[in-house]
Amino acid sequence: MHCPFCNANDTKVIDSRLVSEGHQVRRRRECSQCHERFTTFEVAELVMPRVVKSNGSREPFNEDKMRAGMARALEKRPVGTDAIEESINSIKSQLRATGEREVAAKLIGQLVMDALKKLDKVAYIRFASVYRAFEDIREFGEEIARLEK
Ligand SMILES: [Zn+2]
Repeated sequence: MHCPFCNANDTKVIDSRLVSEGHQVRRRRECSQCHERFTTFEVAELVMPRVVKSNGSREPFNEDKMRAGMARALEKRPVGTDAIEESINSIKSQLRATGEREVAAKLIGQLVMDALKKLDKVAYIRFASVYRAFEDIREFGEEIARLEK
């Protein structure tokens, strides 16, 4: 962090505290050259990575689209809205935690499948059968057999 007064690049943190209910870190810094003090605020970057589709095109992460896909799989299944929202938040955290600016659409599909597997087996099979496009009925049967174990 460059000093805003003399532009030196050696500044040290002299105080650091959480503000705004823990969503920000406020830091007091002192320039080791001119000894001026200044304050910086740090916030977590909540930007979602962009999605790279299998054909190589990019699009912004679309939470509504993901939610709609999950809702389709979960239609008429005994899973509450809270549990679904919790899963969506967890998927978003996992995507952010990759630290990547771009993630493959495939990864999102995989995370959705993992989440559905925990929420509801029927929804998982519905989603997976569309998403993975099971090669044949035998492969589909094998997946169901794995779930029943
Ligand atoms: Zn300075």
